[in-house]
Order: sequence, then structure tokens, then C-alpha cells
Amino acid sequence: MTGPRDGHAVHEEGSAGVSQVAILGPPGAGKGTQARRLAGRLGVPHIATGVLLRQAVEAGTPLGLQARHSMDAGELVPDRLVDELVQQRIRRPDAELGFVLDGVPRTLRQAELLDAALSTLGRPLQRVVLLDVRQAQIVERTARRRALAHRPDDRADIVANRLRVYHDESPPLAQYYRSRGLLRPIDGMGTLDKVASSVLEALT
Ligand code: AMP
Repeated sequence: MTGPRDGHAVHEEGSAGVSQVAILGPPGAGKGTQARRLAGRLGVPHIATGVLLRQAVEAGTPLGLQARHSMDAGELVPDRLVDELVQQRIRRPDAELGFVLDGVPRTLRQAELLDAALSTLGRPLQRVVLLDVRQAQIVERTARRRALAHRPDDRADIVANRLRVYHDESPPLAQYYRSRGLLRPIDGMGTLDKVASSVLEALT
């Protein structure tokens, strides 16, 4: 995770001063890699709800205990828990100059709760980048990640469930941001560098 340097977000050429961004896409689309890279370039924190939830589960916090069952099954964690987690994180001082959200919002309700929280802070979301990736590549990437990172929810049957959940939840979410002029769908199938430059382009 990269924090602001010298108290200022690093507005990389091409990002047009945009520093409050969410990256959406199916499991295994490369959201984490791209969000981390973008956050590093902008000098703002990378906020991944999947990572925060796995930390909470590992630490055995009450929130982690409530989230664990849904995560293991490849289901979504209840919106109110995600909202609690995100609200805590975006209120930390390092997120004052911006953030790159990864894997959140995942439902229309989460988008509404996020909007409400950000509007209280007077810092609305500026762009929502949607990574478009074919299903075959998702299956391949999650299988590779399972071998490397030992994520139990990268098991083939659970990935299938996570994809089903994604396909159910994402159309209304995309429509919500499209109607607000924030949605930027990009091709997530190229090399890391190519996708990273498309992500930057989407911020202009
Ligand atoms: P990820 O690392 O983003 O693939 O998330 C791993 C798992 O954490 C998901 O399959 C969900 O069970 C849970 N999760 C992560 N982010 C969210 C979210 N925004 N809403 C609900 N569940 C989430």
C-alpha cells in the first residue's frame, strides 16, 4: 500500500487530478494488481475489501467471525458489514487525499451506502473503472492464484459461485454508475502494462 507523499496526492500525468476511484470486475479479473498499481501512481491508499475481510477473519474479530461463512462459500458478506469496514477505512487520515477501492461496491446497496458516506465527507467518487475479462481467463487466473496464494475460495466450484454472484449483482451496479456518468468500462484482457495504461486513460 502506498500513502500520500509529503501530504500531497501524487497526481500522475494523465490522471487529471482524479484520486477517488473504484475498480470493479469479476473475480480473477486482475482488479487487485491494477488497483495496487494505480494507487501507487496516484499516491493514495489501495483499499481492498477482500483483503480487509481476510485480515478480519484471520484476526478473529467479531466482524471477521460474521463474514467468514459467506466468504468460504463464495457468497457476498452482508452489506452492513462491508459498509462498516469501508467507513472505518476511508476515515483514516491517509485516505484524505483519495483512494482506490478494489472489489467494492459489489451491490447496488453498497454503492448507495458508499455514496452516503462519501457525501458526508464531501468527497464523492470520481470514476468507476470496470474491468472486462472473458470467463475462460478468469478460471485460469483464479486456478493459478489458488496454487500461489492458497486462497480457499479460489477452488473451482467456489469460483463458479462467485462468478454467479457477480453476474447477478453487477448489472444494476454498473447501471447506477453509468447513469451518473462515472462508469468507464475497459478491456482487461491485455498485458498488465496495457491494462494499466487503459486504467489511467479512463481517469482523464
Ligand atoms: P475478493 O478478494 O475481492 O475476491 O473478495 C473475497 C471475498 O470476500 C468475496 O468472495 C466475498 O465473500 C467477500 N467480499 C469482498 N468484498 C466484498 C464486498 N464488497 N461485498 C461483499 N462481500 C465481499
